[in-house]
Amino acid sequence: MTQHIAQVAIDIPLARLFDYRTIEAEPGDIGRRVIVPFGKGRAEGLQVGILVALVAPGEHDAVAPEATLKPLHSIDRDLAPLPADLINLARFAANYYQFPLGATLLGFLPPALRQLRFRLPPPPAYRLTEAGRQHIATLKPNARAQQTLAARLNEGAQAREALKPFNAHLTRWLREGWVEGCLPRADHTPTIAPPLTDEQEATLTALRQSHGFGIHLIHGITGSGKTEVYLQRSADIIAAGQQVLILVPEIHLTPQFTERILHRFPNQHIVLLHSLLADGERLAAWMSCLTGKADIVLGTRLALFAPLARLGLIVVDEEHDTSYKQGEGLRYSARDLAIWRARQTNAQILLGSATPSLETWHNARRGRYPLHTLAARAIRGAALPEIRLIDTRTDRPRQGLSRTLTEAIEAGLKRGEQSLIFINRRGYAPALVCNACQHIVDCPRCTAHQVLHRGSQGNRLLCHHCGHEQPAPSTCPNCGSHDLRAGGQGTQRVEETLAERFPGARILRVDRDSTRRKGEFAAMREAIQRHEVDLIVGTQILAKGHDFPDLTQVGIIGADHALQAPDFRASERLFAQLMQVSGRAGRAEKPGTVWIQTDWPQHPLFVALRHHDYAGFAQHTLRERRESGLPPFMHLAILRAEAAHMTSAIAFLETAKACLPSPASVTLFDPVAALITRIAHHERAQLLVQSTHREALQAYLKLWTPLLRTLPTRGVRWSLDVDPTEF
Ligand code: ADP
Ligand code: ZN
Ligand code: ZN
Repeated sequence: MTQHIAQVAIDIPLARLFDYRTIEAEPGDIGRRVIVPFGKGRAEGLQVGILVALVAPGEHDAVAPEATLKPLHSIDRDLAPLPADLINLARFAANYYQFPLGATLLGFLPPALRQLRFRLPPPPAYRLTEAGRQHIATLKPNARAQQTLAARLNEGAQAREALKPFNAHLTRWLREGWVEGCLPRADHTPTIAPPLTDEQEATLTALRQSHGFGIHLIHGITGSGKTEVYLQRSADIIAAGQQVLILVPEIHLTPQFTERILHRFPNQHIVLLHSLLADGERLAAWMSCLTGKADIVLGTRLALFAPLARLGLIVVDEEHDTSYKQGEGLRYSARDLAIWRARQTNAQILLGSATPSLETWHNARRGRYPLHTLAARAIRGAALPEIRLIDTRTDRPRQGLSRTLTEAIEAGLKRGEQSLIFINRRGYAPALVCNACQHIVDCPRCTAHQVLHRGSQGNRLLCHHCGHEQPAPSTCPNCGSHDLRAGGQGTQRVEETLAERFPGARILRVDRDSTRRKGEFAAMREAIQRHEVDLIVGTQILAKGHDFPDLTQVGIIGADHALQAPDFRASERLFAQLMQVSGRAGRAEKPGTVWIQTDWPQHPLFVALRHHDYAGFAQHTLRERRESGLPPFMHLAILRAEAAHMTSAIAFLETAKACLPSPASVTLFDPVAALITRIAHHERAQLLVQSTHREALQAYLKLWTPLLRTLPTRGVRWSLDVDPTEF
């Protein structure tokens, strides 16, 4: 045993590793969870860390002299070490997003493993071992309970729950090695792959011919069979003994996707990993990755950090989706890090979308990513919906609905078909307005209007930014007038209007408020599928990958609001959203129609949409972006600051700007107030940093961030966002 210096990552806001003396640690321990003493004097306590490197004494770049280093407390050898590629990924991410390495790496772990003590969850099922089979043969006939237990296990793996009555015996059998933990038997009826369309075939052939790392864009309209390509490529990879990681934006909104994977691979170990799992479930899922049992990991952005030592394929479905970007802490883009991880591990990566992000599209057009196009719907005879624009300057909506749309809904009802009214605003109305003085009631804590909601406790005003809630006032807080009105449309109000106009119709509202409780969303989805409702009012919750056979019409209202949003990505997001929700209209036998209400029917976005022309839209938008110096032609970072007063936030940013002059290739703008100036009493400001060269921006940030950390904050909270998705 030789003395080493252990370099340990700990979850504290300092951007460095911590050194400990150890004679116990060996190179094979790198990546293991360790416990270390931390803090001084009476504040000293134990911390969970990850052993990141071991160096010989004298070789470490000493922060403290060796003799003063504390000894490592313990090494957790019950768990396998993290694979090296994950530690490298953490190093890269910490470096790129300017976030402390310790917080980055520990953030990869499930919450349970960040605690000093944790309990491994028991296996979900048990099965007989070979020794167990031999033991059974020797059981005495009068050992009734054991005979029954043996009989059950002889049939195959048994769920832990089912074996509860035998717990006493089970404990002994486990100790003796007669049974072992395993997965429950899959009861998914296997599905077989359909014969591929020509486009799918061509894509799959190309993917099979490309070995090892490669970034592939699969651009396919809704229903073109992208998922089928993922599944068949996954089958190849699993057959080759490797693992597959599939990322989706929001797993609970796409249960059909999960079902399809489970049924296609009934004999494979499939792990779900996302933030809605309870701590124990998440730990169990993560452990089956760490122990190498998982064949497929399906999850949201955080699943990217699953420890997979045999990774062969990463799929990023709906790669354009903004939920791949984490908005706090390590502000990472899961898509971008997935590409980095794939390169590291020599895995293939598939980016799939009907409306790729402009960054990805730009890369594909420049030949950086092979582009595979699926232009036709996979099911024979299924056409794309017809998209029709309703000019609301002439056909003025009443209560949100134009005459054309109302008639279309009516006709749909007569045909016995379902219609979806898509409006991306929940609540009754986005504003409570005074008719006498035009005052709009704002949130007392934010610079934002409060949204009117109807509920069992009457009318309430809710702030969608900070959650502040209060009963709706009956008089104007500004002039005292009683003459208040709801301004604009929300899902609740549209639901009310539909009920008035179509008294016989069965109406369902699907938004975040109506699906808050567990199971509600699934129940609503089924009700739509079984045609127990006629009209559906819904937000983007419903936009994604659901198959509703009788839904033939989609009416879109309020799209103009999104078009006017100041965010430069607003039109990109709107186009993606409208394409996606349009995909809900019409499936195999019944053609669909999409109605869009707008004041600007000539707008290039709607014109492109009408022709299902993503490429045209992208070309147009990319030209605009190039002309205005925006991503992907410009690389951005934003330094954000929050304080009780705007002056302190701005002052901090001024100091930040002055503390390191930028080279000519990097531009620092003047600090400005954020779009929403105040949220929950915090005033917000920001400073934009940009460069036409990613490397130049990165080089600057690398020097700048350490300086920022030394600035006096005086009550200012700041954060840096590299490649921001909004500002
Ligand atoms: P996407 O992921 O592009 O939206 P999917 O893979 O979900 O497309 O396919 C859309 C529908 O077409 C699904 O119902 C799927 O089962 C079906 N499908 C996919 N590929 C084929 C095929 N080759 N033959 C017949 N049906 C297919
Ligand atoms: Zn008033
Ligand atoms: Zn608020």
